Amino acid sequence: PAEPDVEAPQHADIARLLPYPAAESDKYRRGVIGIVAGSARYPGAAVLAVAGALSGGAGAVRYAGPAVDAVISRFPETLVTTGPPSKAGRVQAWVVGPGLGDGADARQALEDVLASDVPVLIDADGLRLLDPEAVRARAARTLITPHAGEAAVLLGVSREEVETQRLASVRALADRYGVTALLKGSTTLVADATGPVRANPTGTPWLATAGSGDVLSGLTGSLLAAGLPAIDAAAVGAYLHGLAARRLGTAPLTALGVAGALREVWRDVAEG
Ligand code: AMP
Ligand code: MG
Repeated sequence: PAEPDVEAPQHADIARLLPYPAAESDKYRRGVIGIVAGSARYPGAAVLAVAGALSGGAGAVRYAGPAVDAVISRFPETLVTTGPPSKAGRVQAWVVGPGLGDGADARQALEDVLASDVPVLIDADGLRLLDPEAVRARAARTLITPHAGEAAVLLGVSREEVETQRLASVRALADRYGVTALLKGSTTLVADATGPVRANPTGTPWLATAGSGDVLSGLTGSLLAAGLPAIDAAAVGAYLHGLAARRLGTAPLTALGVAGALREVWRDVAEG
């Protein structure tokens, strides 16, 4: 039989993919996720990405950016790096972009991270600053997580075109940039250049709120750092993020609330 075009991962698929610490694990073996996010204008994006990353299964979250005080006062577990990302030790995957702005520091940090030889997740402002050649030249895997508006810019088409052709759009992103692409929206889609597209079954429109994408980035990056292949990290990240939002019920949610519900969702998925 022909390979299906689209698959929706089920609970059991996700449970199998969750990264559990081995008996002999230490925090480095569990994975260190580096976060380059936030700016003087958007310090909250750094806090939200770190919040997501702390519940993604990595052993440590390292923050490299200008919002250190905001991050540390909320999450003292975070390791911080004051120098450039290239000087940060032992990072096994990077998230770059949420609330980063488009200043010279932001551009330099993005360049630094893309030059690394570990997986990188690029979101938000990181996508606006993206040099396609720098992405295609990378040896390690790259994962991009645009919403429809960001995807439209990356593809040089209108937002409406992305909205009406979501499947073709996510494939085109993966193909043209040589990346794994996660296209956010009411049904989040994840694609590589080949193989079936993964459609996330757990979304809820309550997620349409400021900052929820930043939590998804941190969470998914943490799964990458824990060693999941990019397509699995993206599918698991979207799944857990949606379930966490659903767990909060039929009421307006906050992005930080979603991050706070992730631990419970892990348990639900793990225990079936
Ligand atoms: P961002 O646009 O970066 O803030 O990310 C928004 C997050 O909310 C993504 O995870 C989207 O998939 C999710 N989202 C936005 N609108 C909807 C919707 N109508 N239904 C389900 N999820 C949504
Ligand atoms: Mg966003």
